[in-house]
Amino acid sequence: DKDDLSTETLVQKMEQQLPEDVWRLLKKIGETASDLNMPVFLIGGIVRDILLNRPNDDIDIVAEGNGILLARGLKEAFGGEVVEHESFGTATWVTASGLSIDVVSSRLEYYEQPAALPEVETSVLSDDLERRDFTVNAMAIRLNAEAFGELIDPFGGQQDLIERRITILHNMSFVEDPTRIFRAIRFEARFGFKMDAQTEKFALESIDKVIYVSPQRINEELKRLFKEGDPKSVIRRLFELHVFQQFGIHGEHMELVCTAAEDLQKLYAHHLQGQNVQPSSFAYFLLPFFVEEKLYAAKKFALTKKDLNLLEETTALQADKSWQHADNQGDFHRLLHGLSDEAILFSLAAGQVPEQSAVIGYVLRRQDLTALLTGADLMKAGLKPGPAFSEILMQTEVKQLNGDISTKQDAVEWLNGYLCNKHS
Ligand code: ATP
Repeated sequence: DKDDLSTETLVQKMEQQLPEDVWRLLKKIGETASDLNMPVFLIGGIVRDILLNRPNDDIDIVAEGNGILLARGLKEAFGGEVVEHESFGTATWVTASGLSIDVVSSRLEYYEQPAALPEVETSVLSDDLERRDFTVNAMAIRLNAEAFGELIDPFGGQQDLIERRITILHNMSFVEDPTRIFRAIRFEARFGFKMDAQTEKFALESIDKVIYVSPQRINEELKRLFKEGDPKSVIRRLFELHVFQQFGIHGEHMELVCTAAEDLQKLYAHHLQGQNVQPSSFAYFLLPFFVEEKLYAAKKFALTKKDLNLLEETTALQADKSWQHADNQGDFHRLLHGLSDEAILFSLAAGQVPEQSAVIGYVLRRQDLTALLTGADLMKAGLKPGPAFSEILMQTEVKQLNGDISTKQDAVEWLNGYLCNKHS
């Protein structure tokens, strides 16, 4: 096939693309393994990225033999440290200059289920490749000196890279591990690839299995997804593949949610440029639950403290919409002062709010609101610390935001007047 890379071309590519130290290291690994009579390969994401001309220095090595011995040999010859994981047959070699290299033995002892008995699996490189998710991730490059740079590509990963395709290795792949559906979307988003028709069909056929993935894992996968891709296209894919539908969100809301995601992105990009506030990647995932008023359903996910805060704040904003009709900054402040920028903007994006710009104005303004009065000032005026304190401080801020007072002196005068009225 004319599209197949010759070893010579691949070696050139590696030399040009890999950082100098990584390149030298790979040669050393090959030589050391050959001395031990051990076939050795570079494997996984870094192989894909070399072929794509993308940077990646996550060096994963598979040795056909005992990888721990190889790691020890490397340390002996070139220094550094080795951390061994005897029961997994893996080792990490940390080089003298601090690079970290994972070496896996293709003779693996692995646990099918955490609680099950260990299952001993004797395998060669091809077994390792067969267990991977997609053809583009199931390639290896031989590192042994005598055949350095030979591409091992049993599933046609190279062709799929050329045709920008994500393809599973076998029909049961998504059933075996439904998290691969999230991974497929992630690689689509990252590289601008597309699942091939068969892969997409199998994804749809096994989508009902995603509800068995642990919430923790779903949470992680989704965060990674929204960090990598354009949120709107990611949301569209999650609907198209019926992921959201598994969690009770209707497909008919797709366009509405996509628009909300775009709004959220715009709110941050245009109005809050340089303001150092970013939507958390999970906010995008919460959008459909919000749009459909099913926030309780989102609680099924392993939410971090930050996610949970956002969820609780937006629930509060959704329950009491009076803030949407406030018509001065002071009123906004009374109603919204305890809520984060993120929750407020999120609610703006997800709901039909008539006067967005007034709310945004408030969010921006309060960022540089410095208190004119402190607790010490109130004590000086003869007040005792208590609930009245915060009410007075709030009133000061409201007045300040509405432009009724603007200096400390104004504030003190206002306070004295206020206390006089109270006492008379
Ligand atoms: P990234 O740049 O995101 O790290 P990667 O391809 O290196 O991309 P990892 O999640 O680090 O992704 O996984 C490393 C390799 O392990 C992948 O290239 C893939 O071959 C394999 N892998 C990871 N998760 C799975 C899975 N769920 N099923 C099968 N193989 C997987």
